Amino acid sequence: MSSTVSAPAYLRPADVDEAVALVAADPGAAYLAGGTTHLDLLLKDAVIESTRLVDIGRLPLRGTAVRDGVLRVGALTTMAELAADPVVERHLPMVRESLLAGASPQLRNMATVGGNLLQRTRCRYFRDRDVPACNKRRPGSGCAAVHGPARMHAVLGAGPDCIAAHASDLCVPLAALDAVVRLRGPAGTRGVPLTEFHLRPGDRPDIENVLAHGELITHVDVPLPPDGVRSHYLKVRDRASYEFAVVSVAAALAVEDGRIAAARLALGGVGTVPWRAWEAERVLLGAPAGTGTFEAAAGAALRDPFTVPGTEFKVDLAARAIVQALGAVSALGTSATDRPAPGAPS
Ligand code: SF4
Repeated sequence: MSSTVSAPAYLRPADVDEAVALVAADPGAAYLAGGTTHLDLLLKDAVIESTRLVDIGRLPLRGTAVRDGVLRVGALTTMAELAADPVVERHLPMVRESLLAGASPQLRNMATVGGNLLQRTRCRYFRDRDVPACNKRRPGSGCAAVHGPARMHAVLGAGPDCIAAHASDLCVPLAALDAVVRLRGPAGTRGVPLTEFHLRPGDRPDIENVLAHGELITHVDVPLPPDGVRSHYLKVRDRASYEFAVVSVAAALAVEDGRIAAARLALGGVGTVPWRAWEAERVLLGAPAGTGTFEAAAGAALRDPFTVPGTEFKVDLAARAIVQALGAVSALGTSATDRPAPGAPS
């Protein structure tokens, strides 16, 4: 990492194909959309470098459309625009809640859906270039967070090489809903399920997703749940606004005759990737809707955590949040409003 920040070239392509070609041609090039993460890391924190910024902000990748029961979201749709979308408001309450729980109104007016999927971790060591040990920033250098202090870090999908939590709120309900990320790259187009888009750190925390260099997120396809499914995004955080999740839960249930006919569950703030709780869903499906079932699902979701001093509390906190969120969407809870789960240390 150089000690000074050199200004990258700035380019504004006329269409998607030109944008892909411009980035693919330069290993140091990056796309620039809302800029709410990339410019911070590049210009303020100086922990990443780009030789070329390709501004895609004016490309025709903005807006939503419904076709065959799927909401197609353009990658340049802002968080605020998606939160105000009538289809989202009617059919995807947990998506809307996650958007409105993220960032600030000013940031939501700038930040795009595609950028949200690619936002970088909030790990303080990653963002401090004076900290030498960070495998994500400097592969092979170690992980300062494992030796702490750590708190806003992951307990699922984590390991000794990296415990950085994925910071997105929006990705949590998208993971629960089987959203598909649509990509355009030098080799053509493809779709990747959101649950397979982000990569767990393993021994290469610097590789965060399946994107090949030059590939551009063009859309995100979100299947609309059938009628009868209730959903909710519960975010536990240290203050009421403009704060990242300590724990979050995206829960969706359909209950018929007292039994769970459909279940989706995903977690944020505790996973190195947006965390789909597949085992918990298996516990829920077909079981009676009640606190005992929800506690069993929480136990399944949080089996085998990787904790360090400072993150142990998140296991119990996440379990409580899961039970609360499932209670809310099963109509057993007293409220589906966002509120802190008990047990979060200050
Ligand atoms: Fe770096 Fe990951 Fe360790 Fe944070 S948790 S210091 S991002 S390697």
